Amino acid sequence: MNNNDKNNNKTITRLLDNEPVGQTVQVVRVMGDGAFRQRLLEMGFVRGARVTVLKNAPLQDPVEYMIMGSHISLRHSEAAQVEVTDKDAEFCDMEDAFNGIVETQVAGVDPLADDVLRVVLVGNPNCGKTSLFNNVTGAKEKVGNYGGVTVDSKEGWFSIGGRKVQLVDLPGTYSLTEYSPEEMYVRTYIRDNHPDAILNIVDAGNLERNLYLTTQIMDMNIPMVVALNMWDELEKSGDHLDVEMMSRLLGARMVPLTAYNGHGVKDVLQAAMEAIDESEQDTMHHNVNYGALIEDCLKELGAMCPDLDRYTVLKIIENDQHAIELINSQDNAEQVKATATEIRHRIERDFNDDITSIVTDLKYGFVRGALAEALTPNPNRATDDTKPGYSLDRLLTNRWLALPILLVLMWLMFEATFTLGAYPQDWIESGIEWIGNWIGKVMPDGILKDLIVDGIIGGVGGVLVFLPQILILFFCISLLEDSGYMARAAFIVDRIMHRVGLHGKSFIPYLIGFGCGVPAIMATRTLENRRDRLVTILTVPFMSCSARLPAYLLLVAAFFTAYQGLILMSIYLLGILVAALTAILLSKTILKHDKTQFVMELPPYRKPTARNATIHMWSKGKQYLQKMATIILAASIIVWALGYFPRHEEMTPQQQIENSYMGQMGKAIEPIVEPLGFNWQMGVSVLTGAAAKEIVVSTMGVLYTGETDANEESTSLKEKLQTATKPNGEHVFNPIVAYSFMLFILLYFPCIAALAAIKREAGWKWVAFEIIYTTGVAWVVSFLFYQIATRI
Ligand code: GDP
Ligand code: MG
Repeated sequence: MNNNDKNNNKTITRLLDNEPVGQTVQVVRVMGDGAFRQRLLEMGFVRGARVTVLKNAPLQDPVEYMIMGSHISLRHSEAAQVEVTDKDAEFCDMEDAFNGIVETQVAGVDPLADDVLRVVLVGNPNCGKTSLFNNVTGAKEKVGNYGGVTVDSKEGWFSIGGRKVQLVDLPGTYSLTEYSPEEMYVRTYIRDNHPDAILNIVDAGNLERNLYLTTQIMDMNIPMVVALNMWDELEKSGDHLDVEMMSRLLGARMVPLTAYNGHGVKDVLQAAMEAIDESEQDTMHHNVNYGALIEDCLKELGAMCPDLDRYTVLKIIENDQHAIELINSQDNAEQVKATATEIRHRIERDFNDDITSIVTDLKYGFVRGALAEALTPNPNRATDDTKPGYSLDRLLTNRWLALPILLVLMWLMFEATFTLGAYPQDWIESGIEWIGNWIGKVMPDGILKDLIVDGIIGGVGGVLVFLPQILILFFCISLLEDSGYMARAAFIVDRIMHRVGLHGKSFIPYLIGFGCGVPAIMATRTLENRRDRLVTILTVPFMSCSARLPAYLLLVAAFFTAYQGLILMSIYLLGILVAALTAILLSKTILKHDKTQFVMELPPYRKPTARNATIHMWSKGKQYLQKMATIILAASIIVWALGYFPRHEEMTPQQQIENSYMGQMGKAIEPIVEPLGFNWQMGVSVLTGAAAKEIVVSTMGVLYTGETDANEESTSLKEKLQTATKPNGEHVFNPIVAYSFMLFILLYFPCIAALAAIKREAGWKWVAFEIIYTTGVAWVVSFLFYQIATRI
């Protein structure tokens, strides 16, 4: 068949968006442009591919589709960009595109060029790169059954045959174009660092799509080994892959691997070493054969830029701006560009299609052609509805049950966090108390003793008690991520998140935000689009983190006798409401929607492993302890010192504090907080709480009882608050003041650690914005609440 005939047959096309659930259709083309189109193409939405409509999300949008064995979620508006036709329409023959491989002579590299060997891991998201990395280097990086968990590179070391090798874990990518930060990252990393070998990890159960990336790496002419990961799953499915034949057809070394239990790891590393050794001599490198026309074009343009590899030359033909920049330094740059444009038009004319589709089609054709030979599917292969996880999935994404189940799971998680966590918390508390008492007894009275007992142990200890809660929360989150449920949660709530201008994936950082804002802000890295990432980062601090809980517990217990649970919940819900309004506001003003929409892959359900969850929990625990040893320690000492000096030994502890630096500060800011119903002590508590919100309670402890080890359970502090009076005899606190205070604690200034995380992810500008915005919102909300509530 001549290339020109492809589109001439009359095919009646429809839009994927209109297809009913259960329908299988064939892709004709993807409309739209840029990143979105490219992403769909590389996910497998190429001419002739079969797509099945699996289900609507519970709120009807997005929709889950199956293509090339993987599950992809698209919004209706995105599916409307895909033109499809009947599944049996014969309008093209993909296998026609299989022309096998061509060989390129590659000069040997000098083995002494660098004394360290460097091997990089490249592969689709979620194919097991980090699992292999951890297995080989003994590192404890986060593994997740969720795309985008690794966004920058991680380096580790291993030795083999007496040689030391550096292994680099790169972010997962579906392809190497210029459209997403990860893809650019991987591309630039490979170009700038010239790794000695590329370890391409592919999911053996999903070769068609995974090998697409392989075809791009092959063209880079770097020694490569393809690790067929998840070999255990392939074997279980009963499909048979002739690895030897596949290696020959693709012209690449392929080695079966099961990364999570370590089977085949040795062979993979050995193969990588062999590939490196071989590259020291002149070798024949194998590349995809794109057929006579394109091969001639590649030769023609390649001759004009002898320093560039085949991958880059093809990218120039594809009009890739980053590749074109590389030739700007050449003398004949203008000539190369003109030739490339001429070549592109020649190819597009001959194929009667645009260059992106042509190249993608050919690459997929190559992969399919090879698979048709080497892969024998199990004739009795379990269909999707008998696969493990299917009935579970039906339940979890059921139209009526999905949201209730999601809420119950979240509730269970928080319940487990707080009730299970309460036991170890008690032990830690008694331990700290015991140490404090012991030091109190053995040390002579004086500043040093006051510093250690009241400042350090009181301050840090009050926060340390939350370690068990943090650990449990992260253990649960890790289980949810690993099982594949997190991606479903994103699928379920996408519609709601879309309303406030976000992607369903933002849900995960928000959920983590109830535990602690710092990891939540880091988790926004799973969002592919910078705008979504920013909006999420800026709104996550409104999720009430666990550090604020002690203050709520103290105030609710002291001033509300009925409906305590509901009052506590209302605070959390208010935080969510403010976050939603803020997201809408940002989306409508300074962070307007840009066009890039992104498609999400729904990974298969997998049994979560206790090992992964423990690793994750431990690394979070370590971060928390680090925070403790740095920021909170320093803040506690400062708070203590400000309340301790200047010394007036003749005064009572209460007068002492009123005249201390902190007391003076409090008096100075009193006019600002007075309209909210606060007195100077509360003003000071919010000031010091800026370091970490736990400190609000410990500061109240200092100010009201003269000792720092007060916490939410100390009846003395609670009673002091209940009985505290103003000079005019009125009670300082009442339910209205207490609620206004809680609102302020909820909304104002994210703690220093959260701001540091925002700085890392977004920059100083947004830190400044966040400080002003959150504190402003807190003041206005508390003000309105207090002024209105006292008048009715
Ligand atoms: P990455 O995104 O490529 O870094 O992938 P991860 O290493 O985070 O792994 C993704 C998921 O695949 C995790 O749930 C792993 O437990 C799971 N996984 C990794 N390797 C294997 C394997 O060989 N077999 C099976 N069945 N699962 C695996
Ligand atoms: Mg990873």
